[in-house]
Amino acid sequence: MTRSRTTPPRPVDVATVFPELAAHRRTATRLHPRPGDPGPGDSSVGGPLLWPADEPWPTCEQFHVGMVTTEGVRLRRRLLERAWGRTRRGETLQLTDEEKAELKRAEDPPTDEDDAKADPMPLMALAQLYARDVPGLTCPEGMDLLQVLWCPHEHDDHDLYLPAVHLRWRRASDVTAVLADQPEPATVEYDDYVPEPCVLHPEVITEYEYVELLPEDLQERIKEWEEATGNDYRGELSLALGWKVGGFASWSLSGPEPMVCECGRAMEPLLTIDTCEWESPYGGSWRPVEEPEHPAGEFESLANPNMPTSIVISRGYALYAFSCPASFDHPLRFTMQ
Ligand SMILES: [Zn+2]
Ligand SMILES: [Zn+2]
Repeated sequence: MTRSRTTPPRPVDVATVFPELAAHRRTATRLHPRPGDPGPGDSSVGGPLLWPADEPWPTCEQFHVGMVTTEGVRLRRRLLERAWGRTRRGETLQLTDEEKAELKRAEDPPTDEDDAKADPMPLMALAQLYARDVPGLTCPEGMDLLQVLWCPHEHDDHDLYLPAVHLRWRRASDVTAVLADQPEPATVEYDDYVPEPCVLHPEVITEYEYVELLPEDLQERIKEWEEATGNDYRGELSLALGWKVGGFASWSLSGPEPMVCECGRAMEPLLTIDTCEWESPYGGSWRPVEEPEHPAGEFESLANPNMPTSIVISRGYALYAFSCPASFDHPLRFTMQ
């Protein structure tokens, strides 16, 4: 981990205006993924996992017909990155004939052979979080590493039609030999489901409960205060954007839904997989102070600093994984907001 990232102070400390918010406060750890070259010993999004050489790589048992090959997604991104990298700002993208042909090949749909390789399909490494790097990541007894994989095809689990997320908890010191050449699914449903390798710059922040889940009387007073002062509790003061651990979920798409485990306990957000890190069509300005407001340099770039992982959840939403505080063995629940 190198440079840290710092969320700018909120325009107003809302807890001094409404002291009762102290009862609706949690810490969250913004992960701040940024493009990099993580190794298995690093916390990452889209990096290699600390996976034991002698442990089978998990697969998805459902049969999927992919829309695009994983190799094609990566090839397309590298081609476009190279082409934009020599395009001056404000100019249109120029591709050589050779690049156009390569791009066409990258965008070709999967062949029967690719689809055959997809059965059963290896899961895709999505992220891994070492407890030493991520304050607030609570691990099962004796464990210190969370690994997140997903099947990059739409599953109708939980009525979400999103990739199916799988978690593995480990004790890092148990892994003596790391699996080289880690498997990848041959195809994905959309290129939005292939993460770019990112290193993390975790930062602990304070969040407040989603507005519609506060006591009604408090909601009313916050609303009146917003009208009087122009502040925006939901977008600017309560919930951060971007990948994070802990904190609260937004419910801006569906409205609040109870997230209750089958054991009866209220579940809590474990991990948020977000599309945007600081600006979203759905509100918020959470750009860390270290990030320039405007891109620097003479040339264009394919990379969008606001979307460093290249993961897009539906049309730019976030996927929240909830876990049960009673037991890590209880099934996760998910919502997209
Ligand atoms: Zn699957
Ligand atoms: Zn439970």
